[in-house]
Amino acid sequence: MTATARINGIGADSTFSVESYREQMVAVCAALETALISNDFTGFYRLFRSSNLPFMPAAYQTDATGLFRLCFELLHRLGGISPAIALAIENHFYVTSAIATFPTANDPAMDRRRDALVDSICDQRMLVANTNSKVHGGKLGDIGTHARREEHGFRINGKAAYTSLATQGDLLVFLTEIRDEGYAFFAIANMQGNPAVEIGPYLFPSAMRDSDTRQIVFHDLVVPHESLLAGGKNQDVSQLVSFEMAWHQLLIPALYLGAAARAIEEVRKFLCATQGRDNRPLAELDGMIIDVGRLAIDYRGACSIVWQAGNALGEVKSLPRDAHLLEKAVDLAGTAKYIGTKCSEAVVTAARRIVGARSFAGGHPIERLSQEVMFATLGPEVSAVIERRAGRQVLQQRPFLGACW
Ligand SMILES: Cc1cc2nc3c(=O)[nH]c(=O)nc-3n(C[C@H](O)[C@H](O)[C@H](O)COP(=O)(O)OP(=O)(O)OC[C@H]3O[C@@H](n4cnc5c(N)ncnc54)[C@H](O)[C@@H]3O)c2cc1C
Repeated sequence: MTATARINGIGADSTFSVESYREQMVAVCAALETALISNDFTGFYRLFRSSNLPFMPAAYQTDATGLFRLCFELLHRLGGISPAIALAIENHFYVTSAIATFPTANDPAMDRRRDALVDSICDQRMLVANTNSKVHGGKLGDIGTHARREEHGFRINGKAAYTSLATQGDLLVFLTEIRDEGYAFFAIANMQGNPAVEIGPYLFPSAMRDSDTRQIVFHDLVVPHESLLAGGKNQDVSQLVSFEMAWHQLLIPALYLGAAARAIEEVRKFLCATQGRDNRPLAELDGMIIDVGRLAIDYRGACSIVWQAGNALGEVKSLPRDAHLLEKAVDLAGTAKYIGTKCSEAVVTAARRIVGARSFAGGHPIERLSQEVMFATLGPEVSAVIERRAGRQVLQQRPFLGACW
């Protein structure tokens, strides 16, 4: 039985439905609030892993839009509590969602490998970490790892600067280059306790510590042929890379907009509970009403573009036939990431100014949101890349007025 059928089977006894996902979201968020107080995330990860939430992608393999909505909701809630933890969890979701929903139609072998991977993620209740193998070297975009084909599989060596969820992940999905063949996705299920996979210290030891982002070094990691999910210079691989990036660019703003929503809620509580010198609640000041309205409008506008981009990704039903729709979805996802993350940072900053110094007293939520939201705009694509893509489109020979923006 496939993972999807199995999970749908659970649904038949009505314990697995959107409503049951929502109940589980509430429980997992409560566990995260508790974990932050004790600074011990063991119980949170135990509950998350034992819930059905990490395995939603398996149940929505043919409904990317429905899956996107649930992922948005969960990450938005988690991002309102701890953007760093939400980022770690986002990494699991974007990779798993992309693998589960990639709508290829012309590569049955790749489909079998994807299905088998999704099945084993569910069967073994695995959390998925990933790395694109980028390094902080002297040249932008440098890849620090490489794979060499051998008789019984591949030998992998080198360094990757970023892996979030590094000590909690079970399965590592990584992008590297096979010598003389091009980019390739590998998946290895034994990333913890594997002497050939060295998980380094925190990359961001203060502000973003809870994202568990660490450098990974491969020391002669030997993997069988089956570990190769997709590889080579062909259309399927480049479309999988684009599709996965679109998922990532959509789910990143989802979590940081959660931080913005929480900041607006903290502003609401503060303005309603605090009186001015005239004994009237600050919430009655016309200037405050306007300020808060501006924040809510910015937040709503940013959420709308993220949702629009999520719908666009769901319209990619079959590749390569829908290559033009994928291109549109990738574009919109870039815009959504750009607008959503900038808006989140701006809203949290404005909220902090309204609440004032109380934002940093007694474990106030805005303190954590402030420290972590500044990571929002930094990735996955940097702003210059998104801006250049949009600029080039505008400056084509066709008039801008006729363009479908
Ligand atoms: C908290 C956090 C967690 C992460 N977790 C993961 C993970 O689990 N797995 C993973 O694979 N990656 C992860 N990343 C990396 C992420 O996906 C991006 O690769 C990364 O954020 C890109 O930022 P950078 O500063 O490394 O980019 P760089 O490419 O090094 O860019 C640095 C700066 O150079 C300039 N620049 C870059 N490119 C251009 C350009 N084309 N034109 C003009 N200027 C340019 C910009 O000013 C940019 O800010 C994580 C990043 C963060 C911040």
